[in-house]
Amino acid sequence: MARLVMKFGGTSVAGMERIRNVARHVKREVDAGAEVAIVVSAMAGKTDELVALCNAASNHYDPREYDAVVASGEQVSAGLLAIVLQAMGIAARSWQGWQIPILTTRAGGAARISSIEGNSIIAALKAKEVAVIAGFQGVNEETDRVTTLGRGGSDTSAVAIAAAIKADRCDIYTDVDGVYTTDPRVVPKARRLERVTCEEMLEMASLGAKVMQVRSVELAMVKRVKTFVRSSFDDPAGPCSGTLICDEEDIVEQQVVTGIAFSRDEAQITLRRVADRPGVAAAIFMPLAEAGINVDMIVQVASDDTVTTDITFTVASGDFDRARAILEKNKAQVGYAALQGASDVAKVSAIGIGMRSHAGVAAIAFKALSEKGINIRAITTSEIKFSVLIDAAYTELAVRTLHSIYGLDKG
Ligand code: ASP
Ligand code: MG
Repeated sequence: MARLVMKFGGTSVAGMERIRNVARHVKREVDAGAEVAIVVSAMAGKTDELVALCNAASNHYDPREYDAVVASGEQVSAGLLAIVLQAMGIAARSWQGWQIPILTTRAGGAARISSIEGNSIIAALKAKEVAVIAGFQGVNEETDRVTTLGRGGSDTSAVAIAAAIKADRCDIYTDVDGVYTTDPRVVPKARRLERVTCEEMLEMASLGAKVMQVRSVELAMVKRVKTFVRSSFDDPAGPCSGTLICDEEDIVEQQVVTGIAFSRDEAQITLRRVADRPGVAAAIFMPLAEAGINVDMIVQVASDDTVTTDITFTVASGDFDRARAILEKNKAQVGYAALQGASDVAKVSAIGIGMRSHAGVAAIAFKALSEKGINIRAITTSEIKFSVLIDAAYTELAVRTLHSIYGLDKG
């Protein structure tokens, strides 16, 4: 008998009609004889509203109370879906994180799952009861307080539960019918991928594609949870299309480039005439790391005078002001002549495991971008991806250009 986790995102449970539609998807699987555990998000917009309420209550709120407040959105959708399922004659009950329990670290607003006791859920499933689990939340064992997993965290709840109850598959129901070669709103010729490897999906999610929370993909990879992304808006009785996130050996037809991701949430910092001596990079980046600022692309120019050099790097745009302030404070210690920053930049990336075995993949992109008059500010590469930093104004043109030169456009 198949054991399934079905995860429904915020737009899928946004109102009673949608919750009823979700229930029909669940009924289909139950009727087919599957054991079903469901993970739900809060209704669309609910978490934003709860976060805003915390901010309105105080600028300096206790993070444990923030968790208590924002975790409530998922509790509501889990309860409502259980009620609707029961009304359809399907045995179901709601579960909150602490009732399972889903144990997490304590960090308020950004806890990590440390372990899940799967037996309670397995027992419910064996008793033919659908388990409707509130995503995004858990409990810290030491403090006994409710915790939340960071925005988008119910994807991670779903994958972690799938691993804990040894589900055959984790279906992620969202508002799009799968993972696309790039954002179809930017490139109408984007195609849905039938399959994508975990590694590629991880890069795509980290580099800006918003289908699944990055951590959930990481977890699916480590725990080898087979994940399928599909739309909850599809007719529950109709044919289903989606994207299977799988192992490399399950990929039938391998392209060199699988997808193009982009992120406008980038800022560039350049330090001019930095002393060219050991220890300088550490003096720049250690204080940023200590402040929890994630540095992404780093480019150091080989100096011609061997006395000074220029260093360029990027941070998330939300960290831009903080990063600049830290560097200005440490100016004397680091020893640089000038600090320049730009927040109107974007990162465009091409991803594909086929890059491992093909040379010159990135070079084609550099040529195509230059022909469009797009200047590249910085480049980074890894085994299965490369990224370019460009002026934000050119984001869409660059994404379309790369999508087309790598043969991803729909015919
Ligand atoms: N409701 C939470 C959020 O909006 C978690 C989730 O939907 O995955 O971030
Ligand atoms: Mg989500």
